[in-house]
Amino acid sequence: MSAEVATIRGRIFVAFLIMSLITGALGLYATLGIRKAGDLVQRTYDQSLMSINYARAAAADFAKMRAAFARRSLTADAAARTKLDEEIAELATTLLEDLTIAVERSQSDRAIRAGVGVQAAVQAWDEMRRSLETAAASGSAWEGLDRQAGIVDGQIDMLVNYTAGDGFTYRQTARTIVAEEIRFYAVATVVALLLSALVAWLLNRRIIGPVAAASAVAERIAAGRLDDAVPVGGRDELGALLRAMATMRDNIRAMMEREVSQRRSAQALLADALESSHEGVVVVDPEGRIALANAQAVDFFDAGSGQIACGRPVAGLAAAGADPASSVLDPALSLARDGEIRLADDRWLRVSRSATREGGFVAVCSDISVTKEQETRLTQTNLRLDAALDNMSQGLCLYDAEQRLMVANRRYGEIYGLAPGSLTVGMSATEVLGACIAAGNHPGRSVADLIAESADAYGQLRNRLLQELGDGRLIAIETCPTANGGLVATYEDVTERRMAEERIAFMARHDALTELPNRVLLGEQIEAAIAQAGREGGFAVLCLDLDDFKPVNDALGHAVGDELIRAVANRLSACVREIDSVARLGGDEFAVVQRGIERPEDVAVLARRIADVLSAPYALTDHSVEIGVSIGISLAPGDGMSCEKLLKHADVALDRAKAEARGSFRFFEPEMDARLQARRELERDLREAVAEEAFELHYQPIYDLNAERISGFEALLRWRHPKRGSVSPVEFIPLAEELGLIVPLGEWVIRQACREASGWPGDIKVAVNVSAVQFTSARLINAVRDALHAAGLPGRRLELEITESVLVANPGSTTAILHSLKSMGVRVSMDDFGTGYSSLSYLRSFPFDKIKIDQSFVRGLGDSDGSGFIVRAVIGLGASLGMTTTAEGVETVDQLQRLRDEGCDEVQGYLISRPVPGAELAALLRRFNGAQRAIA
Ligand code: C2E
Ligand code: MG
Ligand code: MG
Repeated sequence: MSAEVATIRGRIFVAFLIMSLITGALGLYATLGIRKAGDLVQRTYDQSLMSINYARAAAADFAKMRAAFARRSLTADAAARTKLDEEIAELATTLLEDLTIAVERSQSDRAIRAGVGVQAAVQAWDEMRRSLETAAASGSAWEGLDRQAGIVDGQIDMLVNYTAGDGFTYRQTARTIVAEEIRFYAVATVVALLLSALVAWLLNRRIIGPVAAASAVAERIAAGRLDDAVPVGGRDELGALLRAMATMRDNIRAMMEREVSQRRSAQALLADALESSHEGVVVVDPEGRIALANAQAVDFFDAGSGQIACGRPVAGLAAAGADPASSVLDPALSLARDGEIRLADDRWLRVSRSATREGGFVAVCSDISVTKEQETRLTQTNLRLDAALDNMSQGLCLYDAEQRLMVANRRYGEIYGLAPGSLTVGMSATEVLGACIAAGNHPGRSVADLIAESADAYGQLRNRLLQELGDGRLIAIETCPTANGGLVATYEDVTERRMAEERIAFMARHDALTELPNRVLLGEQIEAAIAQAGREGGFAVLCLDLDDFKPVNDALGHAVGDELIRAVANRLSACVREIDSVARLGGDEFAVVQRGIERPEDVAVLARRIADVLSAPYALTDHSVEIGVSIGISLAPGDGMSCEKLLKHADVALDRAKAEARGSFRFFEPEMDARLQARRELERDLREAVAEEAFELHYQPIYDLNAERISGFEALLRWRHPKRGSVSPVEFIPLAEELGLIVPLGEWVIRQACREASGWPGDIKVAVNVSAVQFTSARLINAVRDALHAAGLPGRRLELEITESVLVANPGSTTAILHSLKSMGVRVSMDDFGTGYSSLSYLRSFPFDKIKIDQSFVRGLGDSDGSGFIVRAVIGLGASLGMTTTAEGVETVDQLQRLRDEGCDEVQGYLISRPVPGAELAALLRRFNGAQRAIA
């Protein structure tokens, strides 16, 4: 490469060297010629002109010598003569010098000769002149001298002429030389030009031509014509340049191909992206025709119409996809500007348009249905929120970070009695307070007072505040900072709630009916008495239970019962001193704490007084009633020093009093506790038995006197007690009722009875006793339905036996429950009729299917106590009301016969069978319903 580089540089160097040499030779030659011409000029001037001048100066010197000699001749003065002689001598010397120079300068032979002639002529004149000085001057002498002078002048003129001729000769020579030189220069210049042209041609051929070719190639490459051939160069730099350009062209071509392929793949990607985009893209050209529409756009607008094909006018899109009912009908119009379109299929599109450089536009359509739906939901939510805000029971104010009101609901205005429109969004919190003051809520108070009231000791806004308004209302204000630095405050008129709370607090410790302290407050009072017992002596706890209150309540109704209880409370309160206290423990139970007693007798006096006072007749609003009271007494500290113990012992004593003689009072004695313990034990055992279902059912047949067969069995509960053996329901049912255990126990009985009955012959019914307590909840309906369903027993095969007490307790809800039961096909019997109130109204209140005449009447059938009459009356009543009558406790054939005679429908009793376990029923059925009938 360096050799090649040297070659081209060498070529240019040689070319320029040759050109320089030609120019140098020409210049040198010109310099020499000019110098020669200069010499000639110098000789012309120096030699000819100078010699002429000196020759003329010699002529002048001689003239002066003649003049000086003439003056000498004329003067006689010796001194002047001497001086003139000296002057003449000087002039002669000068003349000689001038002559010498003139001859030297001329250098021509004839001039030298003329100079010698002049010198000789002058010498001759001078000698002649001298001779004239010494001899007396004759005229001829003078004439000779003048002649000689003329010769001198002639000689000098000749010299002048010769030198002038020489000068001319030199000039001519010089001109000739210059003309020759000029000719030579012209030729040399032409030769130099030719040589230069040759060198230039060579340069052009070897360098400039290829360079031009390379430049053309470069231009073609620059113009993008990459397929044109690049000429092959030599081994010089141009060759290298052409090869480099070929490489460059190849690289550019490769780059372009790469670029093209990249662009193609980018275009393919773009096309893919466009096609798979969720956005509909429509490109419209300046003429308003569709240039491009991606699949999504087709999906949005086309709907199979083909209107969105490329080249079709965008205006022709018409309402292909648009909803005609929509405010924006024409998608073409819509595509012409940014906005939202609703399509016929209820989708919403957002169109964003951007102009293209060519004058068309690109419309990008995004499916904003979800956003729209969210917007709609948000709007609905906002409306609901507004409605919720306006219907809130609390007032609400929302302030922004600058304490400016943003939201205030209707209730806020109501609470503070603000006129509509007195609150406006953007009001400051201070202005809102000002409006509340102006509305008269805070008489005598300023905004500053209200702000101070709402701040805590550190000046921070309190989260909770109870504000009392001028009219006495209490407003509970709660503030809570919002995320954006604002504040939301709620206002609740808690006046009533406060009162209710106070009432509740009161009620928690007092009895609602009498407003006497309840068990809670009594406990506290007893505790207080215990605490002071040492100082004030002992105290007594009296537990009171009204005798015969329940019948009054049941018979005359709760309203009367309540009135009676209030009257009792008043009388009781009147019986005791200030320091004593009276409490109602519930129902017809009261308690008295008698403080400061010294002897038991003090308590007995009070107990007697209470018994007297309470047993006096009560003149109630519509009735006059009499009741009694039983009292149990425990004494502190002797009977215990805890509230629980004292109350329990008083209760035990009360139980004893009631058991022994109603209307009496008893002091607690330790052995009384033992009975209580026994009851507790039974209670515990019963709870366990219910949990373990340690019961079984015995069944007593119900004999149909008309069909002469067993029509059903009454399920009777038996408790298999591990120690006591089989315990009678008479013993434990009341306890189970009292403890609330009767509900799960009763449900078990229903389930068990239905399950067993489902295995009996088709028409045999099962009767189940249901306690009044079970009617206090609607659970019974579900329990019955579930039991029937689980056993697959039809409802008509189940009879529920209820006593009058069920209806007494709560007639309304009981009848509703009974009707529900009846709607399942279940039959309902009135059990033990005649033992309770035997009120006909109860029979009328519900269409019972059966009346069961209590066994006490059956037993007394033969007696003269009217039992027979009652039995007859009940049977007649049943017949007239369309109810079956069943007589219980039939033990003798006589009784059976009497009942048959009276027209009783069914009998039940030991005569037919005692209650027996389920396993024995088959035998009973065989005996009574089989071919061989046992009773006639
Ligand atoms: P009740 O429903 O009146 O049942 C009849 C009672 O009389 C049964 O007593 C029965 O054994 C008895 N008895 C039947 N025939 C004669 C007779 O000829 N002479 C005599 N002296 N007595 C006879 P039991 O089984 O002791 O039941 C007593 C009461 O317990 C039942 O009276 C009923 O009110 C209640 N009871 C029984 N089982 C249940 C039950 O599962 N649930 C509820 N809530 N109470 C039940
Ligand atoms: Mg019964
Ligand atoms: Mg009965």
